[in-house]
Amino acid sequence: MRAAVLYEPNKPMVIEDLTLEDPHPGEVLVRIAATGACHSDYHMMDGSWHDPPYPPLPVVLGHEASAVVEAIGPNVTLVKPGDHVILSFAPYCGRCRFCVSGQPHLCGGFPGPPGTLTDGTRRLRKGNVEISHFGRMSSFAEKAVVHETQAVPIRKDMPLDRAALIGCAVTTGAGAVLNTAKVEPGATIAVFATGGVGLSVIQGGVLASASQIIAVDLLDNKLEYAREVGATHVINARREDPVKAIRKLTDGLGVDYAFDAIGLPQVSRQAYDAARRGGTAVIVGMAPTGAEIPIPGTIPGDEKTVKGSFYGSPRVSLDFPRLVDFYLQGKLKLDQIISRRYRFEEINEAFDALARGDNARGVIVMEG
Ligand SMILES: [Zn+2]
Ligand SMILES: [Zn+2]
Repeated sequence: MRAAVLYEPNKPMVIEDLTLEDPHPGEVLVRIAATGACHSDYHMMDGSWHDPPYPPLPVVLGHEASAVVEAIGPNVTLVKPGDHVILSFAPYCGRCRFCVSGQPHLCGGFPGPPGTLTDGTRRLRKGNVEISHFGRMSSFAEKAVVHETQAVPIRKDMPLDRAALIGCAVTTGAGAVLNTAKVEPGATIAVFATGGVGLSVIQGGVLASASQIIAVDLLDNKLEYAREVGATHVINARREDPVKAIRKLTDGLGVDYAFDAIGLPQVSRQAYDAARRGGTAVIVGMAPTGAEIPIPGTIPGDEKTVKGSFYGSPRVSLDFPRLVDFYLQGKLKLDQIISRRYRFEEINEAFDALARGDNARGVIVMEG
């Protein structure tokens, strides 16, 4: 089986033949159909994510994907061979405190070391060398083995290249609005950084009937994407102070909800400052290892809330099929988010484009 292996930061991934062990009990073997190029993969490539909880190198990255189930291991009941699935990077045990309280994305049932699947082992090998997994899957490969709760069946009339985006960016962004923040109709929102996640925050705002959706980025091409998917106002933070501009657009108040979709401490702080008194800043983007977010001591008087959102707080077995329905009903724009499709052999180009900020989202479509 071919997979793209990252051996060293800041070096291209190498596509080569690896061995992938068969599924263990509770696991399934899937053939990857399409997989997205996400900033979280890039954080591993440029070395800004290292040490636990991130996996040791070498690693096969990839955590946003659609797939077809090829085979199931013993005791699998949630999927069957032939099912079309969207992969989730948040397996859940169904029994722990988080699962039973309705937060399966925070499941603590699989405490295995970084770089392993849910039973704590690695299944990828090059000769005798074990290769780490990423996101409990590793979708930059022709095939993957995942826990059955990570393979969520979807309608077969859903195009698989677009379905892949629901595996990370769309669920993370739209879920931050709908699940984490529970934005109410008429609310005002702002989103900092309009890549795949930020564009999905905007679409979550549209689905929630937000009255103002203000998009902030440094690149005009990305702000153009933002308008296409529903931003009511755009701000280029190279040209004007985004916090001042957001206040101006909201009668001097700030927005009800401000989303940081990139996870840089200074941007998280801008989201905090852009939220109105009593408003909420939602941190969606994942910061570099060791980063801290500065919060001012005026927080009690301003009564602001700072919330983290992991993966858009999803219940994936509900959210993935629901987002698929939204797409097929024309309520969720996915075609506009895919700026370019790449062949597997072009995977490094997809990340060069991501680093330059060329694409809303680049998707790697596997052959077959
Ligand atoms: Zn991602
Ligand atoms: Zn659990």
